[in-house]
Amino acid sequence: MEKLAMLYEGKAKKIYDTDDKNYFWVEYKDDATAFNGIKKGTIADKGIINNKMSAMMFTYLAQNGVNTHFVELINDRVQIVRRLEMIPLEIVVRNIVAGSLSKRVGKEEGFVLASPVFELYYKDDNLGDPMVNETHAIALGWATMDQINAMKDIALKVNELMMAIVAKAGIDLVDYKLEFGVCNGKVMLGDEISPDTCRFWDKDTQEKLDKDRFRRDLGKVEEAYVEVYSRIKEAIANA
Ligand code: UDP
Repeated sequence: MEKLAMLYEGKAKKIYDTDDKNYFWVEYKDDATAFNGIKKGTIADKGIINNKMSAMMFTYLAQNGVNTHFVELINDRVQIVRRLEMIPLEIVVRNIVAGSLSKRVGKEEGFVLASPVFELYYKDDNLGDPMVNETHAIALGWATMDQINAMKDIALKVNELMMAIVAKAGIDLVDYKLEFGVCNGKVMLGDEISPDTCRFWDKDTQEKLDKDRFRRDLGKVEEAYVEVYSRIKEAIANA
């Protein structure tokens, strides 16, 4: 497959057209941003780890019956994905209280939720990705009720699969963000799954092994990304 013109440059990835209209060429960058772009930096080789980690997670999910956009890994920084018409929502799934939920409900980080929480955010940088509910998404035409139900079903399945595999790696899956799109009328999982988009805590020490190390200046950011990737890789290999 051939890489053609760049269509879009996001905070962490560049998306290119290819000679096949069904596929995009995705290049993962080392750039890191937090707090809606206010904090900027780079994390050495993050693009390589996130590209490989996303490919690994999407492959694992696909093997367990989840439809994803992932097609193939091209090199360290590049993967081919199916072209989806993106739904402009971020779906956050939470198992343990952290981050914005901790502030919103006044509960300490680390509180284990009795059941998974499913949140919707409207993807709009200018608005700072506001939290919305299902009726907003339907009434404003961002998604149909069927699409929301499909995203919920897939998110719950992803949650069970991800929790199972990271537990084998000695990691708690605190929360994460998913994005979905539509391909031939079907809702599919898109975007990425990496330490940029998930909170991973070491099960024994509760050490943070994700982007919070960058957001909160905790140091050893690259090391944490590499460690999560290698531990989950080993867990999948032994599954
Ligand atoms: N998240 C993300 N992109 C965003 C917002 C959140 O990937 O634009 C992820 C984040 O890494 C965390 C989860 O979604 O794993 C929940 O984030 P939260 O709402 O707590 O917001 P934050 O504390 O990151 O501002």
